[in-house]
Amino acid sequence: MKYLLAFDQGTTSSRCILFQKNKPVVTYSLPHEQIYPMNGWVEHNPVEIYNNQIKCAAEVMSQLKISSNDIAAIGITNQRETTIVWDKNTGKPIHNAIVWQCRRTAEFCDQLKNDGLSDVVREKTGLPIDSYFSATKVKWILDNIPGARDRAKRGELLFGTIDTWLIWNLTKGKTFATDYTNASRTMLYNIHTLQWDKELLDLFDIPECMLPKVYPSCYIYGETTVFGSAIPIAGVAGDQQSALFGQLCFGMGDAKNTYGTGAFLLMNTGLVACRSKSGLITTIACSANGEVNYALEGSVFIAGSLVQWLRDDLKMIPTAQASERIAEKVSDTGGVYLVPAFVGLGAPHWDPYARGTIVGLTRSCKREHLVRAALEAIALQSNDVIQQMQADSNIRISTLRVDGGASANNLLMQIQADISNLRVDRPSCIETTAMGASYLAGLTVGYYKNVNEISDKWELDNSFRPQVTIEWRKNLISGWRKAIERSKGWETDIEQ
Ligand code: ADP
Repeated sequence: MKYLLAFDQGTTSSRCILFQKNKPVVTYSLPHEQIYPMNGWVEHNPVEIYNNQIKCAAEVMSQLKISSNDIAAIGITNQRETTIVWDKNTGKPIHNAIVWQCRRTAEFCDQLKNDGLSDVVREKTGLPIDSYFSATKVKWILDNIPGARDRAKRGELLFGTIDTWLIWNLTKGKTFATDYTNASRTMLYNIHTLQWDKELLDLFDIPECMLPKVYPSCYIYGETTVFGSAIPIAGVAGDQQSALFGQLCFGMGDAKNTYGTGAFLLMNTGLVACRSKSGLITTIACSANGEVNYALEGSVFIAGSLVQWLRDDLKMIPTAQASERIAEKVSDTGGVYLVPAFVGLGAPHWDPYARGTIVGLTRSCKREHLVRAALEAIALQSNDVIQQMQADSNIRISTLRVDGGASANNLLMQIQADISNLRVDRPSCIETTAMGASYLAGLTVGYYKNVNEISDKWELDNSFRPQVTIEWRKNLISGWRKAIERSKGWETDIEQ
């Protein structure tokens, strides 16, 4: 019986999962070092990441007592934007990987914005100018490592996101490639023409010869013999796009929300690249048939971490799970709103000066009300992004597929269905990121005949449907809007 092997290379750990048809059978993960050379800078060691990924793969195979012959294909999904530059001849990175979270190029990005380049960058790449994306990280390495730009111009250096680095090493340097979804996060790739953009490469002074070839997510990238007999690497996608695919969001209007530390929402917009009016990202999504699908993406900075804050800092709840039991003791928050703008507000409000606030307190407010207000805040913030996605795309989302740690909270899921007036579906397997990569690889090599075969085996754990009146929803959301207004501009108020 053949298996699919998914490599899930994340920000804090590398994991491998063996899938047999739609089911994860064995998982193994290893954490890697988070390197903080300065305040706001984050790096990883690319060699450690590759070695860990190989160890994880060897471990899952040995646990199941199988060999490379039993693996039909490998699918790779990865932390996006993280940037590696290495020497083509020695295979050695010339610097640590600069991680997506790293802010070292923030000032340079401000300069680009001041120079009026935001529109052109957004038009071509679908992205706002930000140090989060790879372009300015590559430029930083070429600017700061002595001789790097000349070596790059001579064709001696290669740039890749983590997927590219893994594929290159797995194929012993034979394949230098990435997929559309990862390319779309570099801020160098024109998502409409599907080409590296010459104007942007000039702007960042990055020689085109150091860039990988770009292919669809379902594609045979090469074969690896690292584990014995040759295994095809047949699926590649950035983590959020892979999760969207793993949630079977194949069609226009299909959307998912991952409730982790933050929340990541993506909606498939089909063949149309929708331009957001309020700072959502336009990005490339995976597709099973080689066509390019687009997605709108928005994130909520503080989601599950709000529950962590109640647990660890306020000591209001003993465990994250207990938030459900405690909040359930009250049927509403008694008019209390908690706006967790700890680091400002993201889409669609975009106010870096906003700070957290609790409003509507009365003498009868109890712990239960505050815990419920926290869960509502997670759902209300997600709803703001959902509403914006619908407005930007003119597409109505009917079902939201959910995953991530906090999606285990039934009350939170019910609140989301009520507030957003949509069905919330939680699959039984919430390993959707790795699952997406396994689907992509499995479809490419014919392990799955087509997407219907995948959909037929997809298992629902629970479905939450709206149970409230229009009036209830209107009141709750209008109170939230007032609370958001109170949180805005707080930092500037202090300075005045
Ligand atoms: P990440 O991948 O971002 O580290 P996870 O998907 O593992 O996050 O989810 C963990 C987050 O979800 C934590 O912030 C935790 O507080 C929150 N969480 C976990 N279980 C629950 C729960 N039952 N109810 C509410 N929040 C939860």
